[in-house]
Amino acid sequence: MGKRIAIVTGGANGIGRAIAQRLVEEGVTTVIVDVDRDEAMRSATALGERCHYAHCDISNEQEVHDLFARLLAAHGSIDVVVNNAGIIRDNMIWKMPADDFDKVMDINLKGTWLVCRQAAIVMRAQKSGRIVNIASRAWLGNRGQSNYSASKAGVIALTRVLALELGRSGVLVNAVAPGLIDTPLTQRLPEDVRQKLIMAQPTETMGRPEDVANAVAFLCDERTGFITGQTIYVDGGKSIGAGL
Ligand code: NAD
Repeated sequence: MGKRIAIVTGGANGIGRAIAQRLVEEGVTTVIVDVDRDEAMRSATALGERCHYAHCDISNEQEVHDLFARLLAAHGSIDVVVNNAGIIRDNMIWKMPADDFDKVMDINLKGTWLVCRQAAIVMRAQKSGRIVNIASRAWLGNRGQSNYSASKAGVIALTRVLALELGRSGVLVNAVAPGLIDTPLTQRLPEDVRQKLIMAQPTETMGRPEDVANAVAFLCDERTGFITGQTIYVDGGKSIGAGL
């Protein structure tokens, strides 16, 4: 097995950091791509010499283009791309400023699309690669998340289309849809809201970032094949829906 190179967007914190850690443990040279320079540097340093940091705002077309050019020049190939960076701006639709719709779409959907486009160009030429997009169980519908749920539904549609477009080039594209996971993003929720959400899970627990990272690692593993265009839920069974 040759040296494999991975990019994890939003890898400075939470789920992305756990994914970066897991890939490094698998022997994959991993580049954390993030806008949070300090936290990303801390994470990359803590994960050891096989982990690097590259600054990039994934919603900026030029920055994404330059990122891929830089990484390709430095490493020669890009074998795994995990689109994990994402934000929330929750509110009921009647109180939601249009700017909060745009921000969430720009990062969660357009940013993921921009990174996928550069990954597709590189991986088609290589005739190999894995793309994993972090969606969310929320795409099925969550009150207060009209912007976020729509962006994640878009990510799942994008995943399915890319599986069709890249299948013959040896590139597998899948999504992982986490439910409620204990990260800085969910730690920012008011405590009473957090508790109510936890009790709404069939497991009555939150998931751990490592639970998501394990699913991503499975999809990126060279031994895993012939799975593409799929969405794996890591959500304690919440997506089943019955009885809630
Ligand atoms: P987090 O806020 O802890 O981390 C997100 C990371 O993305 C941060 O490091 C942030 O700096 C980075 N980021 C934000 N905007 C960026 C941009 N424009 N360019 C590059 N990096 C950027 O979030 P998390 O909870 O770890 O979530 C990670 C992913 O998982 C997101 O896509 C989120 O929607 C999804 N998700 C999370 C949960 C959950 O319960 N935490 C549930 C379902 C889905």
